[in-house]
Amino acid sequence: MNLFIFSNDLRIKDNKALYEASLDQNGLVALFIIDKTKNKNHGDSLAKLKLKLLGLEKITEPLSSLNISLKILYSKKISDEPGDILDFCKLHGIKKIFLNSEYPFNEKQRNKNLEKICHQHQISYREFNSQLINPDDVKNNSGLPFKVFTPYSKKIRSLMTQDILSETPAPLKQKNRTLDHDEIPKFQDAYDQELNFSFDDFPLTESSASQKLDDFIESSIQNYKKLRDIPCLSATSNLSSSFAIGLISSKQAINHVLESLPDENGTGQSAWITEIIWREFYKYITYHFSHVSKGKCFIPKYDHILWRDDEESFIKWCEGKTGVPIIDAAMRQLNERKWMHNRLRMITAMFLSKNLLVDWRKGERYFMENLIDGDFCSNNGGWQWSASTGVDASPYFRIFNPITQSEKFDPDGKFIKDFVPELLECSSNEIHNPSSETRLSLNYPEMIVDLKSSRLRAIDAFKSIK
Ligand SMILES: Cc1cc2nc3c(=O)[nH]c(=O)nc-3n(C[C@H](O)[C@H](O)[C@H](O)COP(=O)(O)OP(=O)(O)OC[C@H]3O[C@@H](n4cnc5c(N)ncnc54)[C@H](O)[C@@H]3O)c2cc1C
Repeated sequence: MNLFIFSNDLRIKDNKALYEASLDQNGLVALFIIDKTKNKNHGDSLAKLKLKLLGLEKITEPLSSLNISLKILYSKKISDEPGDILDFCKLHGIKKIFLNSEYPFNEKQRNKNLEKICHQHQISYREFNSQLINPDDVKNNSGLPFKVFTPYSKKIRSLMTQDILSETPAPLKQKNRTLDHDEIPKFQDAYDQELNFSFDDFPLTESSASQKLDDFIESSIQNYKKLRDIPCLSATSNLSSSFAIGLISSKQAINHVLESLPDENGTGQSAWITEIIWREFYKYITYHFSHVSKGKCFIPKYDHILWRDDEESFIKWCEGKTGVPIIDAAMRQLNERKWMHNRLRMITAMFLSKNLLVDWRKGERYFMENLIDGDFCSNNGGWQWSASTGVDASPYFRIFNPITQSEKFDPDGKFIKDFVPELLECSSNEIHNPSSETRLSLNYPEMIVDLKSSRLRAIDAFKSIK
């Protein structure tokens, strides 16, 4: 019998490992691992864990129609997983394991150990590339991994032939179902916690993710370049949670777009495809430069920055009580909706790592613990970009002024008013930075930091690193 192990690839279509596992008609079991300690250590948000479990429930139906059994394996920690998988294989007579690659260090290590154990026990182990293009096949002219996005992106586009973009066929229906499905545990039983949250905005199946993308292509993609930075509009796809748990692949997304519109420079569709390539880029960086998964800065010298130990400000940032309206609105969006607009992720991350000079890793962790779309590679990449410690990052002296950003991207304060009800009565010209009298009368706090001097403090902290 064959075993396919789910990771962040909760889909039937364009799933290379699942397809390969189905080919020899040996009987096929799909395995989902619940590992509370790993999820806790990695800071996975309850929203993402619950989304995944709800998605798992939905995928039993298409798996059933393919005669593929779904089993749940409980593991105590990631280093136990290879041994636990081996025990499962022995119990069920599994002779071949198939899975798609993951790139963060712990997952890579787990898979290496699993492969080793499989060899020792005569179990075949096959791992498949889960990127648009295998990271080992994308190198610069000197044969080294790219460290700058634009040439990487150009290279990816030059390699995006029909052949590369052709999707993996659906898995073959197995002649017989060999085992019964396991019951999917209730969220509380699986993770010892409850979460009351509406998942209405977030697809649970690959077909609803695909429909959401079609709707976005039809209604919004052409204006994406122009409107994507305006947080009060729904001008982006809101598909990040679907990418994060794998309801849709980069390849499928790009194909959907190209079926309707050409990838022409300057268009909304081209800008959107570029974002998919950013997602690929951060996975590629995690694959080639494993120190980023070990809590290190991509640029090693910035490991010596003297971050401020300012727990009080950090908590105010988390709670959306900094007295900077756009920051507070954004953080409250994250806390309430478990999702944050991209422009706001950049503004809040820069505010924490520069104006407050708090270690970006604290913010990275807080985002992971709350985002429904938490993805180690994109989150680490986004944080290191904002903190100027990362690959092809924002230069340390270019620090966003949150008030100017607010005036530019939320001119009427509509987004702020959606999330900071204290400021509902504020006029458009005051909303970005209300006067002391207004703050007092509306019971809205003063800013916790002076933007000008804290900017200079951050520049000095970076400058002092030789
Ligand atoms: C500090 C910070 C942290 C972030 N953390 C995450 C995270 O944990 N998970 C995550 O998926 N994205 C993260 N991003 C990237 C980006 O903010 C989100 O992917 C995007 O806001 C999701 O909204 P959307 O689906 O409407 O995106 P769209 O604008 O519709 O883009 C389409 C898809 O492209 C990908 N994408 C878009 N922008 C980026 C980007 N800058 N980097 C990498 N991929 C991108 C996403 O998969 C997204 O769903 C982070 C960005 C920053 C600055």
